[in-house]
Amino acid sequence: MVASVALAPGAWLGCLGGGQLGRMFVHAAQAMGYKVLVLDPDGSGPAAQAADDIIVAAYDDEAAIAQFGSRVSAVTTEFENVPAATLELLAKHIPTRPSAHAVRIAQDRRKEKRFFSEHGLPVGAFAVIESDADIDRADSSLFPAILKTATLGYDGKGQARVANKVEAAEAFARFAKTPCVLEKLVAFDREISVLVARGANGETRVWPVQENQHVNGILDLTIVPARIDPALSARAQALATKLVRALDYVGVLCVEIFVAGEQLLLNEIAPRPHNSGHYTIEACVTSQFAQQVRALAGLPLGDPSLVQAAVMVNVLGDVWLDAAQVMQPAWADVLAIDGSHVHLYGKAEARRARKMGHVTCTATSLDAALAKAEAVKRHLRIA
Ligand code: AMP
Repeated sequence: MVASVALAPGAWLGCLGGGQLGRMFVHAAQAMGYKVLVLDPDGSGPAAQAADDIIVAAYDDEAAIAQFGSRVSAVTTEFENVPAATLELLAKHIPTRPSAHAVRIAQDRRKEKRFFSEHGLPVGAFAVIESDADIDRADSSLFPAILKTATLGYDGKGQARVANKVEAAEAFARFAKTPCVLEKLVAFDREISVLVARGANGETRVWPVQENQHVNGILDLTIVPARIDPALSARAQALATKLVRALDYVGVLCVEIFVAGEQLLLNEIAPRPHNSGHYTIEACVTSQFAQQVRALAGLPLGDPSLVQAAVMVNVLGDVWLDAAQVMQPAWADVLAIDGSHVHLYGKAEARRARKMGHVTCTATSLDAALAKAEAVKRHLRIA
């Protein structure tokens, strides 16, 4: 670990990854006077458009990574699958947040679940599946279940619902017998997530709990504050804080949690700002992106308090493809709603299920924010 010294505005920060999370990180960093160098294999993506400079290279291109590391004073990531080894290399020279350790755990569902279990963090019943024999051995009480590839799955990809061992074996074969976890299907009441930040000095700040609704495995709506018992929210926040301490984590992290009755079960972590935290830009004193800049630069963390209720609507490429006139979503109608905040990520091509932007609706009451979000969905023809 490199010693932590606060980086003054004007310093260059490095961002591995060029997607929308990187773009919003760049915006926050620039607002605070920092410059951002993005490294991404695509030179024209959302973050590249906003960055002060870009290196177009693969995440495992050692020469490019060395050049990148020599030009910045600290590094963060916005993409799940930056190789942990790349972060390890950079961490020899400059503060690298998230750490390779945290990323390695988040990139592999087997490691993630074992980490939860070992640290007394509640997790649903699961079995690691690395061979057909593991399926034979699995406890029958796990079914109905979801088989998930251990690595490289996201937004419901690399997942199959299975009713029994025969279906599990079929799905495992479809996944080319790549290592998987078999999770008991949780009959959850709600899905929530908690954003938490930990500073270089160990201080932690946690945002209010958000409630998430998914459609086809992709986040559709985030509702804040979550409509759960405040005591459950407080427990969820405490779990998130315990988690970042156990990981010795520095930066912003999001943990997804199932709420089943009084039970909270951790699903997965994202070692970075998260789609379900975009509402923090308008609704909180400090956004998740500004907080990531603070943590990366070794500065005091900001106040995560919620200023207004918020509902975020994710905007997928389907909105363009289903628009009344080709390429003309009804932005004027959306922007006519007071308290609607449109974010578009600058992606050149609208494709089905591709995250193109989001709209955050803020209001003094959650009911009012929900009504605005419903209106946004109507105008954008989101089912
Ligand atoms: P994940 O990629 O693990 O976040 O899963 C995507 C979505 O699938 C989650 O947000 C849930 O809606 C659903 N899901 C995942 N795992 C489970 C589970 N064990 N039980 C019930 N639903 C799940």
